[in-house]
Amino acid sequence: MRICVIGSGYVGLVTGSCLTGMGHSVTLVDRDGDKIARLKSGETPIYEPGLADLVGKARGAGLIEYTTNLNEGVKNAGMIFITVDTPCNKDGSANLSRVLQVAEEIGKNIDDFKTIVLKSTVPVGTTRLVNECLQKQRRSQNFELLTNPEFLREGNAVYDFLHPERVIIGTERSSYTKTLTNIYKHICERIIITNWENAELIKYSANAFLAAKISFINEIACVCEEVGADITKVAEGIGYDSRIGPHFLKAGLGYGGSCLPKDVSAMIATGQKAGCEMRLLRSVAQVNSDQRRKFVKKLSKLLPEQTGLAIGVWGLSFKPGTDDIRESSALEVIAQLKELGCLIKVYDPAAMPNFKLLHPDLHYCNDLYEAARESEALLILTDWQEFVNADLNKVGSLMKSKVIIDGRNIYEPDLMKKFAFKYYSIGRQKID
Ligand code: NAD
Repeated sequence: MRICVIGSGYVGLVTGSCLTGMGHSVTLVDRDGDKIARLKSGETPIYEPGLADLVGKARGAGLIEYTTNLNEGVKNAGMIFITVDTPCNKDGSANLSRVLQVAEEIGKNIDDFKTIVLKSTVPVGTTRLVNECLQKQRRSQNFELLTNPEFLREGNAVYDFLHPERVIIGTERSSYTKTLTNIYKHICERIIITNWENAELIKYSANAFLAAKISFINEIACVCEEVGADITKVAEGIGYDSRIGPHFLKAGLGYGGSCLPKDVSAMIATGQKAGCEMRLLRSVAQVNSDQRRKFVKKLSKLLPEQTGLAIGVWGLSFKPGTDDIRESSALEVIAQLKELGCLIKVYDPAAMPNFKLLHPDLHYCNDLYEAARESEALLILTDWQEFVNADLNKVGSLMKSKVIIDGRNIYEPDLMKKFAFKYYSIGRQKID
């Protein structure tokens, strides 16, 4: 089938290139001319394991095209995916301007029957708005509109797209879903067909629940630190309970990225609009932002005079396996370190180019050891495997003071004792 994907970011580019892997012919559209030029030249503008390979194969097979011209993409496509971003408004609600603008443009440009699939994360009621928008342009039912929220995780995006645990399709009429189901049935056995509103709420509830799990474990971690308990043991112990499960119970600096923070805040806004107080989710967000402040407080307690102190930082991306720094804990922690007057040396395997655009004034290092060299303390903000595998003897010998503050609990406290580090992590014993 000829498919058009509008919005060539993390979700769009992964969706488009995975669809070519299934034999479809895809046109990727984006309004960002620079991104499209880079894609046309054979570059993959985002870091995502396996993506460059997939894009290269699609290019070789002549199955992928790129354009900034929406009409060109839409014209020959039988199916159109909308994968544009839905960031936060100042009041926390989701900004739907891009989705609605794209819907309007599609409406103006379609002249034969199309299946339109809304994949962007949108609050309950949005698909109905998009439908009205399309209707207004067309004044006829020359399309079917489905909402199909995406659950892929950055860092595993290609794998997740191709191995979804479930596919959700929201529709007004179940007879409309055949074309999309035909695509997904090769990669997923669990396809849930429901109405637009349920599909929209499933996505937000999933992300809100995941965020709640993280804030929950971080709150318990705070207690652990005060009473001499170990959060990793506590999490393991509760995770074996099948009603709870082991995932998303890792204490640390909290959730970040382009999804959980904005989706929690949009869910709060949706609830409030519906007359619900959303007390739990407001606390979830509060616990998350406190977590970063508390982390820098640990440093201030240890080194009361920070002006001019060299601090090494490992990890800038919001999680390992990605170059995405949106809502990354590093943004908040580094802003605080700057206020304290520290000399900041950073290293990240993938995210330094993105971070440099926002913070050009930091010292960017060539490897993790350079960031540790002559540092008074080393902060670990992302749990990249490269940091887990670091030569701790070498790290210790390079640092001015052997102090590590680990926001991701990547080392065992006993191991750090052996290497004679002062070691502070989240919800576990301090080694000092
Ligand atoms: P992104 O910012 O990486 O990409 C969005 C792209 O859309 C950008 O390249 C932007 O230039 C383009 N765009 C915006 N307006 C446009 C327009 N009018 N015409 C053409 N292109 C336009 O965003 P993303 O991370 O891919 O997320 C997209 C959606 O998917 C969001 O709603 C997000 O919540 C959701 N989602 C994201 C993830 C994730 O892990 N990133 C996972 C699941 C769902």
